[in-house]
Amino acid sequence: MTDFQALADRPVIIGGGLAGLAAALEAAPRPVVLITAGTLSDGAASLWSQGGIAAAIGADDDVTLHGADTIAAGDGLCDPVAVARIIGAGPSVIERLVALGVGFDRDATGAIALGLEAAHARRRIVHVRDHTGAAVTAAAAASVRAAAHVTLIEHAAALQIATHEGRVIGVWIATPDQIVFLRTGAVLVATGGAAGLYRASSAPSGATGSGLALAAEAGATLRDLEFMQFHPTGLDAGASPLPLISEAVRGEGAVLVDETGARFIDELLPRDVVARAIHAHQSQNHHCFLDARAIGARFHTRFPSIAASCARAGIDPAHMPMPVTPVAHYHMGGIAVDAAGQSSVPGLFAAGEAASTGLHGANRLASNSLLEAFVTGADVGFLFRTLDATGADQRIGLVSGPAADPASLRMIRSVMDRDLFVQRNRAGLRRAMAELLPLATRNQAALVALMMAVAAYDRHESRGGHATSDYPARSAAAPISSTLTRASALQRAQAILRQRIAA
Ligand SMILES: Cc1cc2nc3c(=O)[nH]c(=O)nc-3n(C[C@H](O)[C@H](O)[C@H](O)COP(=O)(O)OP(=O)(O)OC[C@H]3O[C@@H](n4cnc5c(N)ncnc54)[C@H](O)[C@@H]3O)c2cc1C
Repeated sequence: MTDFQALADRPVIIGGGLAGLAAALEAAPRPVVLITAGTLSDGAASLWSQGGIAAAIGADDDVTLHGADTIAAGDGLCDPVAVARIIGAGPSVIERLVALGVGFDRDATGAIALGLEAAHARRRIVHVRDHTGAAVTAAAAASVRAAAHVTLIEHAAALQIATHEGRVIGVWIATPDQIVFLRTGAVLVATGGAAGLYRASSAPSGATGSGLALAAEAGATLRDLEFMQFHPTGLDAGASPLPLISEAVRGEGAVLVDETGARFIDELLPRDVVARAIHAHQSQNHHCFLDARAIGARFHTRFPSIAASCARAGIDPAHMPMPVTPVAHYHMGGIAVDAAGQSSVPGLFAAGEAASTGLHGANRLASNSLLEAFVTGADVGFLFRTLDATGADQRIGLVSGPAADPASLRMIRSVMDRDLFVQRNRAGLRRAMAELLPLATRNQAALVALMMAVAAYDRHESRGGHATSDYPARSAAAPISSTLTRASALQRAQAILRQRIAA
């Protein structure tokens, strides 16, 4: 059994995805603790990433062009300084990953092969066939397992980040044997995204924004929570989460059709536009399919993981159209952090999808998130080398509610699929708040869902990953990020619901 007292006053990294692994590696030689809810081989979206990592390493490319594409996709809300910093690190991240042993696909000359994805002006997607995330994460995980400075504790879920006088003093952790308090003054939340709050989701089912709730309960400010990226093509064959059919399949010539065989949208338009078109077509009682028969037998060698998911559903994409539906995929919002990864609570840091770094704005450019996870995780790890991580003994016991019990999670997912999906409206958002508010003070998933609903309700425009039929256009006013704390979100939800009753 782990001796947690012996680990006191070390920086603690929560999450074993790419952001947490990069932080742990970069912290060397400072001793750090890495806890993760499952193992390093499951539970992380990083393991599921298909397309690849965007990096401006082509002869015709440079980081300024990559940054410009990122800002265009972000629909007015990117922080140009964060974009320059994170995108600028792309080429060196690829070198670092090659040094870690990642065998990226190469072209006939031996150079790293570069794929093209929607809204990228150049070929810059570095990949390992269609399982880049698994290859990259496995390499980083192997290095972490071998690193003497990292104490890795698997099957250990963070339940609560304890604070005293506004600073982090420790973290409550549940292991299979016990609930323990680990004293520390420095915690990195690298717990991934919140797309698992939806039933129609491509993300691991544990991606319920638990790190956002941990941070919010500790008093941190969260940002841009209304912006969820929906991927147009989840494989609609009964599984949940839904296997993703990468954009690259459309890039190779697959077309979107309905049950009559008719095309209804240009499938190479931006993700959010295609997702809304499919949703609208489904609302008129159509069924939607991705027809990749033109790719033929090559589908199996070019997209082996997707072909395997299809085979499990009894579909051969070389000969049959694949049923598809939009899925919640990537959460642009998260814990507001500065360039050092520091949140509004001293001692509480965030990286990767759990953080709102300013890179993605209102809409993420495809394949920028593995890059962000590595860069922002490593930045915090570097800081941890010299940071004072002295915590303090617990002042109060564990007060958090459960992350989410299965029955509550089912209810939350049905609310999210109904009222916070690709096309929202204020009546639906109010209904969602009314159903989530009673749970939000004692259930972490409900708290995050409620905060997303409040942020969506208060954005009076459609932009990026937030579309509402009440305000279908972008606002002419200068775009600003939304920020919420737990307290302000609960108060705002109560006020909105009172207004409705008064009306
Ligand atoms: C199907 C799919 C395909 C994708 N394809 C791409 C792609 O091609 N390119 C790209 O750039 N991005 C892609 N993404 C997005 C990308 O995978 C993620 O944004 C990125 O991997 C996030 O990394 P992370 O380390 O922040 O979080 P994750 O990799 O999700 O890791 C989070 C970790 O935190 C742990 N955890 C969560 N809560 C707790 C807790 N309370 N206590 C302890 N541990 C906890 C989890 O178990 C997990 O280990 C894809 C995502 C999906 C779902």
